[in-house]
Amino acid sequence: MKSVLQNSKECIICGNPKVHEHHIFFGTANRDKSEEYGLKVCLCPKHHNMSNEGVHFNRELDLALKIMAQKHYEKYIGTREQFRREFGKSWL
Ligand SMILES: [Zn+2]
Ligand SMILES: [Zn+2]
Repeated sequence: MKSVLQNSKECIICGNPKVHEHHIFFGTANRDKSEEYGLKVCLCPKHHNMSNEGVHFNRELDLALKIMAQKHYEKYIGTREQFRREFGKSWL
């Protein structure tokens, strides 16, 4: 499944075209769910995991993306209860 949150393949933060694919809900089970629903974004190495500003180290950025993805889920896929069941908790 491609990203449902983004059409272009560039860093969602800075527009850099050199990107990694980031699964917004990571960890074994959640990663598969992220893949299934396309809850992922493109991030350049700096905004992914190659600096302290990267989403894997920057809690604020991590949270912002999770909130964006959960809002998408609740708008197009299912209820908050379903989300909680699938991803283990709610970020909203
Ligand atoms: Zn970037
Ligand atoms: Zn990642």
